[in-house]
Amino acid sequence: MSRQNLSYRFMLATTITIVIVMLANFLWEYHQQQRQAYMELQEKAGVITLQLLATREFIARNQDRINYDAHGHFEFKGLNPAAVGTGTSEIFGQWTDYKIKQTRFGARNPLNRPDEFEMAALQSFSRNPHLQEVWDQQIINGKHYFRYMIPLYANESCLPCHGEPAGCIDIAGYPREGYRLGDLAGAISVLMPMDIFITNLRSNTYRHFGFTLVLLGLCLSSIYLLLNRLVTNPLSRLKEAAVQVGQGDLNVDLRGIDARGEIKELAVQFQDMADQLRELYSNLEGQVEKRTEELTVANRELKEKQEALEAANRELSILNRHKSQFLATMSHELRTPLTSIIAFAELLQQQLPEDDQTNLQNVEEIRTNGENLLVLINDLLDLAQIEAGRYQLRPETMDLVDVIDSVERVIAPLAMQKNIDFSTEFLREVPLVKADPEKIRRAVLNLAGNAIKFTPEGGQVKIAVDFDQEAQQILVMVSDTGIGIKEEDLAYIFERFRQVDSSNVRRYRGSGLGLALTKELMEMHGGWVGVTSEPNKGSTFTLGLPLGWSQGEDGDEEKDNFVGG
Ligand code: ADP
Repeated sequence: MSRQNLSYRFMLATTITIVIVMLANFLWEYHQQQRQAYMELQEKAGVITLQLLATREFIARNQDRINYDAHGHFEFKGLNPAAVGTGTSEIFGQWTDYKIKQTRFGARNPLNRPDEFEMAALQSFSRNPHLQEVWDQQIINGKHYFRYMIPLYANESCLPCHGEPAGCIDIAGYPREGYRLGDLAGAISVLMPMDIFITNLRSNTYRHFGFTLVLLGLCLSSIYLLLNRLVTNPLSRLKEAAVQVGQGDLNVDLRGIDARGEIKELAVQFQDMADQLRELYSNLEGQVEKRTEELTVANRELKEKQEALEAANRELSILNRHKSQFLATMSHELRTPLTSIIAFAELLQQQLPEDDQTNLQNVEEIRTNGENLLVLINDLLDLAQIEAGRYQLRPETMDLVDVIDSVERVIAPLAMQKNIDFSTEFLREVPLVKADPEKIRRAVLNLAGNAIKFTPEGGQVKIAVDFDQEAQQILVMVSDTGIGIKEEDLAYIFERFRQVDSSNVRRYRGSGLGLALTKELMEMHGGWVGVTSEPNKGSTFTLGLPLGWSQGEDGDEEKDNFVGG
């Protein structure tokens, strides 16, 4: 039985409890028996002393009859209470092991003189007149004795021999003590051997002890057997079953377990749980197998689709490159004849007479359409080059004032034509910045051109330049009081060929490429473009150009600590 074992702990606790209870009971019983025996001895001693007192009293009352003859002649016969007491005690002592003694302070007979115990008792009686008896146990010469004493007080029959006057010779020839009625005259002492009492007590104790041991043994063995049968064994079976389940073997069988009550219920529940788990596992394995198969098929399909997608992607990127190359080549090829057409149209305008209004208008139409077409082709060419990765920035330290001046030169006449109030403003001093001035000019020009285009006559267009100290970037804000843009359209106006309303194309003309290009140009500088707008109230487009930007050797953007200026 291991120390951790439940039975061991239970048995140990039970044994300790039973031993403590039985020991307490044993001590209590021993004490009670001892007390009982003392009470019996005390009673016995009391009866014996009373018997002696009665004899003494009888002799005292019959003194006259004993000492006077029929003629009234006095003759002391020596049968006074003390002599009779001593005599009967002697005879009693011969018949039994008991010793009865009449004693007092200054006893006449040396045999009656008090010993140590008796002297102490006499002193107690003289100190306390209400004390009725004194008793104790004493060992004399290795033997146990019960000592018992009662006091004797002087009465009428004592006085003739022991009363006043003190010193006067009494009838027995001894000097009187001078006692008065009620004085302590001595005591009767009884000495009783306790051998039988002690033997009885011992045998009782041994019997009781033996009985206690047998009872303890019986209790413990029955508890041990019951505990093993009802708790330990079934619990061990349950533990084995739990270990089996823990190791993944669900084929446990607890049906034949020898258990009762809660442990039986536990075993039944455990069996149910194991059965359910077994069923669940067998279902689960089937399901996992099925799902794995499905997953394998899905995975294969996914892989095939991914391969197809990759192939399509490769094809698309080849096509895209071809498209960009085609656009770049075509735009380049278109630009040369178009520039000639515009130049010739301008020449023709100068040569035509002023009154030939019809032809002048036709030629003007050729020139403006040519210019629009040139802008479109330039935008297309730039975007195609950006896409093909062939677009190069030429950064230099530039001043935004120059850029805004250049834009103003182009925009101011257009604004005047439409009677639009156009203005530019520097909200604070703007540092020099490293960027491609031509590309930044294109971006601002696109925004300003749109502002003029989408603002009706009499409106306002303003270019404001600011410097964001905290973000270390230059801000160019182009605002107008034009037609504005609906919120849902704001998201896609920066995409290529996207125009808010197709009717706008006819009304305002345009390609839908300007904002897309502006966005690309700004992002190439590490910057950005944003817009806020309200329909019929106007729009504000903002360009953000960071100071800390420089172009990498391979054309990629990279950050450094460069600050324009
Ligand atoms: P587009 O050549 O058509 O102007 P953009 O890319 O420059 O092409 O602009 C895309 C569309 O964004 C325009 O067609 C117009 O609907 C809208 N848009 C651009 N700027 C403004 C503006 N200042 N006010 C109102 N709408 C604008």
